[in-house]
Amino acid sequence: MSLLIKGGRVVTAADDYVADVYVDDERISLIGLDLEVNADRVIDATGKYVLPGCVDPHTHLDMPFGGTVTIDDVESGQISAAFGGTTCHVDFIIQPQGETFASALATWRAKANGKQVIDMGYHMAVTDLEHGGSLEELATLPDQGITSYKLFMAYKGALMVDDLTLFRTMQVASQTGALVMVHAENGDVIDQLVREALEAGNTEPLYHALTRPPEAEGEATNRAIQLARLASAPLYVVHVTCKQAVEPIALARDRGWDVWGETCTQYFFNSLDDIAKPNFEGAKYVYSPPVRDSSNWEVLWNAVRTDALSVISTDHCAFLWDGQKTLGKDDFSKIPNGGPGLEDRLKMVHEFGVRAGRLSLNRMVELLATNPAKLFGLYPRKGTVAVGSDADLVVFDPEKEVTISASAHHSKSDYSLYEGTKVTGAPEVVLLRGHVLVENDELIASPGIGQFVKRARFGEELRPAAETAHA
Ligand SMILES: [Zn+2]
Repeated sequence: MSLLIKGGRVVTAADDYVADVYVDDERISLIGLDLEVNADRVIDATGKYVLPGCVDPHTHLDMPFGGTVTIDDVESGQISAAFGGTTCHVDFIIQPQGETFASALATWRAKANGKQVIDMGYHMAVTDLEHGGSLEELATLPDQGITSYKLFMAYKGALMVDDLTLFRTMQVASQTGALVMVHAENGDVIDQLVREALEAGNTEPLYHALTRPPEAEGEATNRAIQLARLASAPLYVVHVTCKQAVEPIALARDRGWDVWGETCTQYFFNSLDDIAKPNFEGAKYVYSPPVRDSSNWEVLWNAVRTDALSVISTDHCAFLWDGQKTLGKDDFSKIPNGGPGLEDRLKMVHEFGVRAGRLSLNRMVELLATNPAKLFGLYPRKGTVAVGSDADLVVFDPEKEVTISASAHHSKSDYSLYEGTKVTGAPEVVLLRGHVLVENDELIASPGIGQFVKRARFGEELRPAAETAHA
């Protein structure tokens, strides 16, 4: 099967030019002006952008959490991703306490079997090195293509690890070539503040944000940076939301340390005003770290523009408002933490980043595709438009007008964090390894087409399969 995408404006992290892109056997094999080649199918991309498929390094599909399970499984989550122009993601395996990493991996692979619509990899979230999982077993994961370890510094009594577990995991990572990821909030302090709020009778969703102050995020971010420095491990701070956390990351990066930070779409748009909405509507905006004061929006735009933060992910962790969020109707600490967003990232960042003049098109591609691919061992197979790369491509119509709404999205969640937002610019055709996933708002491919990707170690490139075979 061959495919020719004609006359589009090819945009990568570095380049921006009009060309034809020829796809043969799942990969890009030729890029040039007015290519004279025969193809099984021709797509006219005149007036459109040809972007690399976006890579989302932070999602939670089919994950047990907060007394329930996220509403999107691998199939509905990945369909939602595909409609949004995301063709590869890295999901979190959560090690159940007392279980080995091998058993956790087997459980998560079983959830994906036969359901995959896009390509995916996994991070391993380490919750327990005392029982089940061991440092020795952790060291074997990169050989299986799982080249990042995630640790929660929050969620006391559930996912949170102590500093010793964090530090020892960092020591393993420095030896095995894995990237350490942290959810940086001080879980002990938050646990105390939550207790005090509930004792005072403050049960509304707003108190979720008020008991997780930005200082708790700033402190944990700085602690993780210093510990990673001690252990000589590369560090990636997930979902950075505020000035207090951006500053230590920016400082570390200025010093040339191996520290990177990510924020998520929702932190540019949601604020305390949303979580304070009456009649329990605020529960839609309960995720962690929480929504912040809106003065942080410009802090974050500035951080992604200057590379203090290097990635925008979604932290898609979808629940139903009616039926799941309601578990915390009388107690904010029982509201499942998380929100939907896998489908909205490219459209929202294009509208409010690029069209609003905050980011260049190149920088948008870098934040949504190239940097996540490079940091998570997927580049250059993913994250760019280049000869030899997987033909994961988005033909993006910059003129298409769309209203974002739960009534139109493909997540099973019954609400959207951006309900009613009008944007101009949306994917028209989305390709995975040359196969059409989505075209003109219709799902074309069937589940089963997506694959597990064995990611390269931190700092190493993921070469195309055929190239590796020849070497
Ligand atoms: Zn998350």
